[in-house]
Amino acid sequence: MSTQTAFTIEQFYKFLSEGKLMAAKCQKCGKIHLPPRPICDNCYSQDFVWKEVSGKSKLLTYTVIYVAPAQFQALAPYAVGIVQLENGLKLPGVISGVPHDKLKVGMDLAVDFEACAAGQAWPQWQRYCFKPVNV
Ligand SMILES: [Zn+2]
Repeated sequence: MSTQTAFTIEQFYKFLSEGKLMAAKCQKCGKIHLPPRPICDNCYSQDFVWKEVSGKSKLLTYTVIYVAPAQFQALAPYAVGIVQLENGLKLPGVISGVPHDKLKVGMDLAVDFEACAAGQAWPQWQRYCFKPVNV
C-alpha cells in the first residue's frame, strides 16, 4: 500500500473496513490527525504519512440517548461517548457491550471493528464502535 494514498475520510473508512485505525501524521510538525484532514491545522502542511494507532482507549465522557432522531429511535437507548486514545487523540463513537448503568468515566475500552448494532445507522461512525476490554 502506498503512503501516497489520499488523506481523506473515505480512505480512513476504507482502512476501518480492513480493521485498522489509521491516523494521518503531519510530516512537518508531527501532529496526528484522526480522522485525517487534507491540511494540517497546526502548520498548514499537506505532507502526511499514515500511522496505525492503537484502539486502546479510556472513556472520557458519555451520554445515553433515550430520545433519538426518528431514524435511530429503534436503537434507543444507546450510549455514545468520547474516548481518549493512548496517544491523546479523542474519538467519538457508539459504546457497545456495556450495560448503561455500568458505564464509567475512565473505564478501559477498545475499538471494535465488527458491525455494531447501534453504529450501523450512524453515517459517520458506521465502521467502528467501542467495547469494554475486560468483559
Ligand atoms: Zn503540521
